[in-house]
Amino acid sequence: MDESMTMKKFDLDEKKRHAVLSKYFSLISPSNNIFSLFSDEELSWIASSLLRKEEFELDHRDEWGNWDFNFTHENYKVPYVDELIVQRISESGLRKRNLWPNDKSFAFWLTHDLDVVSSEDPVVLNRLQNKLASNASGKNKRLIHKSFATYNKLRSWKSFDEDPLWAYERWIDLEKEAGFDSTFFVFSRPSLMKDLHQYDCDFIFEDRMKYRGKNCTVADFIEQLSMEGFEIGLHGSYLSWDNSTMLLDQKVSIEKIIKKLIVALRQHFLHFDIGKTPDALINAGIKVDSTLGFNRSVGFRAGTSFPYSLVDGLIEVPQIIMDGALFNHNSLNYNEKLAFLEVERILDKVEKVGGCITINFHPNYLLIPSYWNTYKFIIKELTSRNAACMNAERIIKVFNED
Ligand SMILES: [Zn+2]
Repeated sequence: MDESMTMKKFDLDEKKRHAVLSKYFSLISPSNNIFSLFSDEELSWIASSLLRKEEFELDHRDEWGNWDFNFTHENYKVPYVDELIVQRISESGLRKRNLWPNDKSFAFWLTHDLDVVSSEDPVVLNRLQNKLASNASGKNKRLIHKSFATYNKLRSWKSFDEDPLWAYERWIDLEKEAGFDSTFFVFSRPSLMKDLHQYDCDFIFEDRMKYRGKNCTVADFIEQLSMEGFEIGLHGSYLSWDNSTMLLDQKVSIEKIIKKLIVALRQHFLHFDIGKTPDALINAGIKVDSTLGFNRSVGFRAGTSFPYSLVDGLIEVPQIIMDGALFNHNSLNYNEKLAFLEVERILDKVEKVGGCITINFHPNYLLIPSYWNTYKFIIKELTSRNAACMNAERIIKVFNED
């Protein structure tokens, strides 16, 4: 039998359905009558979209081990669940809730997955080439990577003081100028080599960087960001998706640097299994996840732009737009103009339903003009549309208000 035909049964009992819907509805309208606006079948469909029935039941994954846009049967280009609820509320004359701070009509969460801290540092390149050599298929490829590793080892004996990427303050300054802040999801290398996957990142906290022209380590950089009021979250390593011990280990290693508890996470590569990852995250003390988005497209994986309760104790805030998905050749392959149009289209949709647009730009794309210009365009649009700037802590607060 074809593996994709092996159906696991998605269990949606009345209690589970009520739990996810009552909280989700309450964020959109203060009325107690929302349930009565839908048929029993519709209520199950809404809950199944939020709790990701379709990805639970499909065993097949893409070549990176992920469920992505090409597997959905829903119209992921629009917030299809939010639109249905908002339409019914409006038709029935019920009131919408002013959910976001300062009566703003919609919200945004700016996030950055910290995957890469340098592009030319020979110490990091040596580590990268050694990893590629150990994962290479075939002797020739292994030898090539080994020789690049040796070349960088030799380079590392000379002083190295400039890396094109050592200017991440540009992200901070752009956001600060607009009066915004953001969350950096920081990768933390697993402590055991066997837990490091070939897709994982290559830096360690002791690696060097520069921040505002001054020499520092990655750890110093993260601590400084936190001190400047930017939120630090965990970027869980590729193999941590079902392993709370590994996640906790990674979370604690960053908490030691910032001397604060981490509440938010996005998995590296969006490597997430709806049947297992939520429990692993809760057991590691994570309160907010923002992994449910697409690697190769933009849009609404769960049909919503609102935070919602994925399981008891874990708030899901779906990632809506990721940089690479707009531009990569295996993704939407847009140019700058098309990216601006798509961003505008999605902003219009989220603004109309009053949700939260969660945006992920990787700091290491700083020097690619189309990426940087699109981020600047997003900041400009969010400013002129007067949206509320959120982070995980502020989302938790809004979520738990009555
Ligand atoms: Zn990543």
